[in-house]
Amino acid sequence: MNTTLLTGGCVVTMDDAYTVLPRGDVLVEGAHVRAIAASVARPPGARVIDCAGCIVMPGLVQAHVHLCQTLARGRVDDAPLLEWLRGTILPYEAALDAEGAAASAELGCAELLLSGTTAILDMGTVRWQDEIFAACDRAGLRVTSGKAMMDAGDGVPARLREGTRQSLDESVALKKRWHGTAGGRLRYAYAPRFALSCSESLLREVAELAREPGVGMHTHASENRDECAIVREQTGLDNIAYLEKLGLLGPGAVLAHCVWATPAEQAQLARHGAHVAHCPSSNLKLASGIAPVLELRAAGVNVAIGADGAPCNNTLDGFQELRLTALLHRAHGDARAIGARTALELATRGGARALGLDADIGSLAVGKRADVIVVDAMRLPQAPRGTEDPYAMLVYSGCSRDVRDVLVDGRLVVRDRYLLTLDEGQVKARAQAAAARIFRAQP
Ligand SMILES: [Zn+2]
Repeated sequence: MNTTLLTGGCVVTMDDAYTVLPRGDVLVEGAHVRAIAASVARPPGARVIDCAGCIVMPGLVQAHVHLCQTLARGRVDDAPLLEWLRGTILPYEAALDAEGAAASAELGCAELLLSGTTAILDMGTVRWQDEIFAACDRAGLRVTSGKAMMDAGDGVPARLREGTRQSLDESVALKKRWHGTAGGRLRYAYAPRFALSCSESLLREVAELAREPGVGMHTHASENRDECAIVREQTGLDNIAYLEKLGLLGPGAVLAHCVWATPAEQAQLARHGAHVAHCPSSNLKLASGIAPVLELRAAGVNVAIGADGAPCNNTLDGFQELRLTALLHRAHGDARAIGARTALELATRGGARALGLDADIGSLAVGKRADVIVVDAMRLPQAPRGTEDPYAMLVYSGCSRDVRDVLVDGRLVVRDRYLLTLDEGQVKARAQAAAARIFRAQP
């Protein structure tokens, strides 16, 4: 069995008691954490990784990402959501081909792993979901994903418009092919893109399908004021209230953004056990607003974080979302609004809960899956070392460049900042060529 002993690091477990071992060992056997203690004997044949001067912690979990959009990074900046989406992103997704989808997903997975994210909830595009899952399989990232469902709406290119039945049948077939594969590392979530791109009958059927235990539902909601106004005009209801009426809010539902969630909708989210993916960089860049994260949490809603897609961020760096989550909500004047430990909780346990994987990942605990990152805490921005708390170090002065080693399911996928599963140079070259071809082909 593949055994790894991470020795002598500051172990930030994020377990229920927020246990921190200032200097401890973590033993990984196969896919699982087998021991966490001040000192663990080295089993014969175990690989030993010296983590002195490092923080050993659970990998970041991002509950809203679009791997299919990574090739569109930098293609549309400084535009509001609907213009950004209809003017550039949907035409890009319409022009995407199998090779482009694979290249985009590989690029995204490589960036995520190298920056310390070990698990994501991803939304695909209408086609090429097999290619996206295959790329995630190669990369070694833990991914729950689903093809985007789009059977209605204005400004949708013909190549992305699907029939209702076709969209549902393809989604069900993809779920059968991929859900629970790669030892459970790859999972499926139904992904109706947002209320404006889906017919009411499609959303109602998705609500039925998503009742299957262990299968999630992932959508966007109440991101932008114009979007909310159109939903209200078309349905007579606020965006989240409309999804609630159709039966889409359940414990497996993850709604990205919820910037404009009303107090009544916040209560609905809490009542149904639905989760919110907070995407602060994306919300700021698209000028969508600041999500009511404090209010959502006070209402009892689980909040996770996400980088969203590369073209609205423009990175997939979980550490940036972590820092922004801690800082942004102080704009209202409360320095204790979201502390460092709480921000890290959103980025680990919060994400694991949103993915329905809280029993498996999100914290370091014996018996849980070994999704672990080792963060170098000896770099210049961390100095001088003294009485600092590790949460503050990670959230305020830590950054993704400090991520040294990464394990997913006990498998070492990044070592000394070097990606072991994919060739970084080839990933970049493949993405460069695919992006050039796809954007050249567009009118
Ligand atoms: Zn999104």
